[in-house]
Amino acid sequence: LRAYGLDDDDEDERLRREIRGRDSIQIRSGQVVRGIEGLIGNTPLMRINSLSDLTGCEILGKAEFLNPAGSPKDRVALQILNDAEEEGLLHPNTGSCIFEGTVGSTGISLATLARAKGYRCSIVIPDDVAREKVEVLRKLGAEIESVRPRGIVDPRHFVNEARARAEAFGDVELVGPHADALGAGYHFKSESGDEGGQGVGDDIHRSDLVVSSKSTRIDGQDDELEKRPRGFFADQFENPSNFWAHYSNTGPEIWRQTGGLLDAFVAGAGTGGTLSGCAAYLKRESCSNEGGRRHFLNGPRAHGEVRVVLADPQGSGLYNKVKFGVMYSPTEAEGKRRRHQVDSVVEGIGINRITKNLEMGLQCVDDAVRVSDDEAARMGRWLVLNDGLFLGSSSAVNCVAAVRTALRLKKERGSDPPPVVVTILCDSGARHLSKFHDDDALKRLGVDAGSSDISDILQED
Ligand code: PMP
Repeated sequence: LRAYGLDDDDEDERLRREIRGRDSIQIRSGQVVRGIEGLIGNTPLMRINSLSDLTGCEILGKAEFLNPAGSPKDRVALQILNDAEEEGLLHPNTGSCIFEGTVGSTGISLATLARAKGYRCSIVIPDDVAREKVEVLRKLGAEIESVRPRGIVDPRHFVNEARARAEAFGDVELVGPHADALGAGYHFKSESGDEGGQGVGDDIHRSDLVVSSKSTRIDGQDDELEKRPRGFFADQFENPSNFWAHYSNTGPEIWRQTGGLLDAFVAGAGTGGTLSGCAAYLKRESCSNEGGRRHFLNGPRAHGEVRVVLADPQGSGLYNKVKFGVMYSPTEAEGKRRRHQVDSVVEGIGINRITKNLEMGLQCVDDAVRVSDDEAARMGRWLVLNDGLFLGSSSAVNCVAAVRTALRLKKERGSDPPPVVVTILCDSGARHLSKFHDDDALKRLGVDAGSSDISDILQED
């Protein structure tokens, strides 16, 4: 600096500012992203060649496993934390702790962002999930509590445990619907109606979705309170930020990437956020004349509205809800000896209740496909061997349902042009090495693993 005559402090500071300025110019130019948050979303949409060629349809997978922490839950975690910060419920570097009950993906996304943003993270996880997920959480420095899998009405269910821990941490603030659901710990939609949902084609505004907090803040005390460590229950099942992440990001990306020329969207539901958020957006775009005019110069869409299909693993109650409008409450379920837990080796999707996030877009779901563990296992192996796609169990379920949906559409509408079906490729097989991709582990769980024969799945029904 001295050689350049830049040794005085003012000049030094000016240079530093200029260099910082240059950084932000690069960021603004779109060539550099700011931190790990900048890597979230905008995932590619890929043609799954083997399935597309064999069905004569276009089967496209949204490569969500390419998100930095490995799943679409990165989008959700970011939205939840940003919304909480915006509402003044969380302040970085104050020792505040994020609590969540999760089968893995959301925990990993939250723990990742907690590191980047300056929070602690505490995760409650069922002890039957693939152990590599727990290992990743541990490496990220999350506090981990493993619990036996139980029904959602049990206070020791992982979600209820996480909520209780957040409360015990103190000064916890719960946002809208979870606050209302406190004590019950779950939410049931009435059997008869679809009340409370958003109509297809309605404009959904962010202000409708973010429910105001039960804040105890008092004017003038903000600064003091900001410094206090707080507990925050992320609550992916009931927190509408989850729906919003997909409604405002994943859905629009799919619409843009296909030029609006998709015929169906297929996804499983764990919290229901992906399915509902994408469904509501895609219905809105494909139903509205405005959308038609905007995207199709020759008039409205040739194929009408996007068909939304739930991919449901065996043992999940949602298939019946979508197909027949009936889902049993846990009390009734107990009488009928239905299990609260979904009896499937598939991790991340399949539930026996209607969460807030699912409810928000359930009226946009047209159809459901049930997928057995055996079909999912064979599809998982097929994709590795034929496409080099090493994916987790929920992606395999989605792909089976996408093939069935594509073949059904082809039967109904013909193949000129070929039906275009979009599904979600949620996470990598690396998160499932010790369970879904371990033939012996699957055999012990009663699933006939090892085969990659999907010829029965490719049969038109
Ligand atoms: N796949 C995996 C691996 C998951 O962990 C989850 C979330 N539990 C899903 C799919 C389903 O996503 P959503 O919660 O949005 O329904």
